[in-house]
Amino acid sequence: MAKPRKLLTVALLATPMTLAAYAHAAGVTETPDLGPSPDWVIAIHGGAGSTTRDELSDEDKAQLRADLKAALETGAKLLDEGGTGPQAIEAALKILEDSPHFNAGRGAALDEHGDARHDASIMRGDDHAAGGIAGSSRIKNPISAARAVMERTQNVMLHGDGADWFAAENGLELAEPHYFITEKRRQMLRDARAHSAGDVAANTIDESIFGTVGAVVLDRHGNLSAGTSTGGRTNKRHGRVGDSPVIGAGNYASNNSCAVSGTGHGEYFMRWTVARDICARVEFADESLESAAQALIVDTLLPAGGTGGVIALDPAGNVVFVTTTANLKRGVMSSATPARVAVYSDEKVE
Ligand code: ASP
Repeated sequence: MAKPRKLLTVALLATPMTLAAYAHAAGVTETPDLGPSPDWVIAIHGGAGSTTRDELSDEDKAQLRADLKAALETGAKLLDEGGTGPQAIEAALKILEDSPHFNAGRGAALDEHGDARHDASIMRGDDHAAGGIAGSSRIKNPISAARAVMERTQNVMLHGDGADWFAAENGLELAEPHYFITEKRRQMLRDARAHSAGDVAANTIDESIFGTVGAVVLDRHGNLSAGTSTGGRTNKRHGRVGDSPVIGAGNYASNNSCAVSGTGHGEYFMRWTVARDICARVEFADESLESAAQALIVDTLLPAGGTGGVIALDPAGNVVFVTTTANLKRGVMSSATPARVAVYSDEKVE
């Protein structure tokens, strides 16, 4: 089925935009070469954001790249040894959750009360098993709790105190609420409050450079998996849950089609069931992964007012990164290619 990309392009060209605005509005797509038929693939992201080159120091950029590389190499080692997708995703995302440079675990965005509340989910593509937690405040590594929900319960999502209790009962590491809160995040909350003049719903400030984290994996057993973890959006309404723990919205994996992890304005990802719709286009409309991801992120979300990006992976090992934001921290590695990472949307992974 042909998708209406041409119509959108014409509409954008017809408006009086500068070339730079058009390039941004059209989104950026990257399809890294991972070698012929790789045995395993891991792609990760560290969030989509609005921070541009001039706003980020070389030191911050080097730190982001180092953390992304460490996460990739940790997941890749497990995959190379025959580990499963969920094992690799948990190991990789724990590194990013422990780093204060990402909006997950330590360094998570703060809600309107100044609390860090975490959302995470994981899904495996062979049997569509899935697990997630929402609004937890004590779980040190939310992605580990999501995996435990998937593997140790008959449920798909636990929230709030229940998620914290479940993690404690299952011997997962807990942390005091102050562990998650960094001074940078406090400052971002102060800025967001000033910007939104007390109206939380009106807060549309993009997460700066410190983003949500996610991973998609093809393991040696031929299975796809996806995982995503976030603190949500700065100054979010207390109790607000975003797309990251919602299967089909910010996270999805099926061996029939693809694995997707999203980042961006979560309400839009939920309303357009972004992750599932990308995979449904691949499965039922015979679209390429690249075309399906662009259809949702560029042609659907952006005109509706939602910015963000996805990383996606198909059973043949093709990876696509698509975003409509100035940066998408990301990385990729396969059995045939080394770890490569990028920070800005208009640069290639290297
Ligand atoms: N999607 C996340 C949320 O809305 C935030 C992000 O990815 O920046 O909770």
